[in-house]
Parts: sequence; C-alpha cells; structure tokens
Amino acid sequence: MVVDMSYALVSTQDDGPLQLRKLINLLKGEDIMTKINYTNAAIYNHAAQTFETNRYMIVDTDTGKIIETGEGKGPASVDETVDMKGKYVMPGIMNAHTHITSIPTYWWHDGEEDRHSDSREFNTMYAIRNMQDAINNGITYIRNVGAAYDIDMEIQKMQEKGMIAGPKVMTSGRAFTMTGGHGAGSGHEVDGVDEMIKGVRTAMKKGVDNIKLMVTGGVLKNGETPDDIQFNEDEVRAAVVEAHHKGKTVAAHVQGAEGVKEAARVGVDTVEHAFNIDDETIAIFREHGTTIVPTMNAMYAIYEYGENTVPDWARQKVIVNIEKHFASITKAAAAGIPIAMGTDAGTPYNGFESESAYEIQLYVEKAGMTPAQAIDTATINCARAMHVEAEYGEIAPGKYADFIAMTEDPIADISVIQREKDVYQNGVNVHRAVMTIEDQQMKQAEMQVAGR
Ligand SMILES: [Zn+2]
Repeated sequence: MVVDMSYALVSTQDDGPLQLRKLINLLKGEDIMTKINYTNAAIYNHAAQTFETNRYMIVDTDTGKIIETGEGKGPASVDETVDMKGKYVMPGIMNAHTHITSIPTYWWHDGEEDRHSDSREFNTMYAIRNMQDAINNGITYIRNVGAAYDIDMEIQKMQEKGMIAGPKVMTSGRAFTMTGGHGAGSGHEVDGVDEMIKGVRTAMKKGVDNIKLMVTGGVLKNGETPDDIQFNEDEVRAAVVEAHHKGKTVAAHVQGAEGVKEAARVGVDTVEHAFNIDDETIAIFREHGTTIVPTMNAMYAIYEYGENTVPDWARQKVIVNIEKHFASITKAAAAGIPIAMGTDAGTPYNGFESESAYEIQLYVEKAGMTPAQAIDTATINCARAMHVEAEYGEIAPGKYADFIAMTEDPIADISVIQREKDVYQNGVNVHRAVMTIEDQQMKQAEMQVAGR
C-alpha cells in the first residue's frame, strides 16, 4: 500500500476530519476500514457485574461496531489508538419509555393543562431538542412509546440519515387508547376488537416498531384513576396477536393491580409503571416472561417538584400511589423479574438530560438493586426488552460501539452516571464531558497546592 502523507496529516480526532477522510476515500473509490483501539479503559462486564480495568476495545467506524475486546493494551495495528486514561466505560444508556415530542416542564399554565394544543411544528422542534439533550447525556437508544402526530417516525428517519443528532429511536407512533381514555389528546382512539385490529395493522403498515396501549387510567389526566380498566382483555389480546404476528413488541401502560394482571396475562411484552404488584402478578410475569419498565422518576419528580405547578388532581394521585409503586418495583426486582429502565421522559420535571441516570440511582436507593443490577436495567435488559440484544446492550464484539466514559466508578457511587461524561456513538465521539466551573476551580486549587 502506498503511503499518502497528505492523508496522514488529516486528524482523526474530530468528527469533521473523520467525515472528510471518509468522503475522500469514497471519492477515491476506496472503502478503507477505520479501526480505532480504545485502550487503557475500565470496561463494564455484565457477566462479572463489575468494571474490569486495563481493557481495550477495537471498533470499526465504518460499520459502527465493536470488533474485538480484551485485556491489556491491545494490538497497535490499527488506524488510530485512543488512550481512555483509565476511564470507566459502559454501554450507552438505553431508555425504554420516552415521549420525545413532549415538553418535560412548563406545560402547565395557571393549573390548566396546555399540552395538546401544541402544534405539530412545536412538537417537532421540541423532539429535535430532546434528541440533542439525550445524546449529550449519554442516552444512545430510546424506545418512544407515544408521540403526537406519529412524529417519532420522522425523527427516527432523520436520526438514521445523520441529519439530526440524537439516540437511535424505536418508534410506536401514536399510542392506542379507548375513546376519551388516557392520552386521548395525542393518541389514537379505538374501541372494540375490530377497531383495535385495524388500528394496529395500520400503525404497522406505516412502519412502527412497537405498539403502545393505554390499558388503564393514569396520573396526568383528570377524571380517571390509575386503577380504572380502560381497554378490556379482548382488546388487548387482539393487539398482542396482531403485533406478534409481525414480530413487533407491545408495551402496555398499566398502573392498578387488575390492569397489570390483565395485560400480562394476554402476553404484552412490557408493562409500564405497574403500581400494584402482588404474588399472583409475579407468577403471571414469570409465566409470560414479562418485563417491567418502572418510570419511577416520573412519579418522584411530580412528588418532589410539582407542588403549585402540576395541578392538584394529578399530584394527589402521585401522593396516593408513590409508595405502593416503589414497593411494587422492589418486590419484582427481588423476585428476579426483568426490569428495563424507562423514565417516561416528557412528563413534568422529567426530561432527556440526567433524569435517565437518576432513574438508575432510584433503582439502587428505592428498589433495592445493586449498582450493577441497576446498570443492567439501562443496558442489557433494555436491549432484550426491545429485541435488539444481538447488537446492543453490552460492550462485546458484534455489538454497536455506543458507549459512555466516566472518570469515576459507578459501582462505588451510582450517582456519577449523572455527571458530565464522554459519549460515543457507532464508535466515534459525539460529546465530550464539559468541565463545570466548580470542577475548574477545584483543579486550579489543586494546582496551587501542588505549587504549579
Ligand atoms: Zn408514558
């Protein structure tokens, strides 16, 4: 191979030049594999339930996948070597329950809900902003479970084409709800088995990846309770049968005890929220292989910050249910029921920044998980629940090189995942940790003490 020195002068450190180099290769008619060795890293190992030091990972930036991992420095025969300086590396955060078109805050005006009067344009622009926030905070894959105007489907296409920044997106389009049911303002209202079948088939024709059903009432709608059954068992079963015939998953918003059992019994893939879980529920989950997506921060944020802004009728439902909810998740986690991290991002004070990492912390502090188990909820468990575990959820050969790098060990302190971190997508850096003013002052003080 002829060595082209002008080519060697092009830096591979930044996205721009890397793209330029790829463009040059393309123009030359060459498709040169770009291998980067990320060395000197502490890499999270799901099987070992810890970060293993002195590891390397080789990625191919053309496919975006990991091609090799191992102990030590790794081979030098790569296009580029990046010293990770001992940083703690884990798979990018996956969030199995988001609402990308929703405004996390300030959609309550003088105690009145003013959410669904928002225009399609407003929802779209907010989705683009949420996508940017998510990737900057290490969230590399989301499953959106209800988007106004099916906007998540366009957002997914734009992200895949590289025209907007953000996590990869699994779509549901508009959520299904009964006439006047939970989320009816932005959802798709259907009643009866025939309308459900037609609706689900239509959504799949448009190309959704997942079907979202509002099976019970919920918190953020007046005049209903989390215990209200909305879709009956026949309606839920019809949706599950249709979705599974095409290999699609079904996510069910269920809160009260009977709704959770109804949805799990007819085979939905994930139950979202789940405020009431008893021994019978655990047995049903075991029988059907159901995964729970808790969204604890949705409740916690309204409880903690919602006074005088979130209407009282909504906040009261949180106050009545939050302890039952957290106890239910604790019980399910202890029983070994799979839990996939989801926040319900888009609900009040619950957005696309550090809230996902805070949800992980809540699993440790309020649901009795170990830090490693909590990390698994946001990586391998999400990948399994979303049926993408062949290519996501672990740092391993054959999987996409979507990962985050932190300066401190999340096993020692789970809260460090909330801090600024380096974010990599398809093997390339897409966000660098920004030092806060406090960090800078600390560093200056340390240098003064050291006499530098
Ligand atoms: Zn939701």
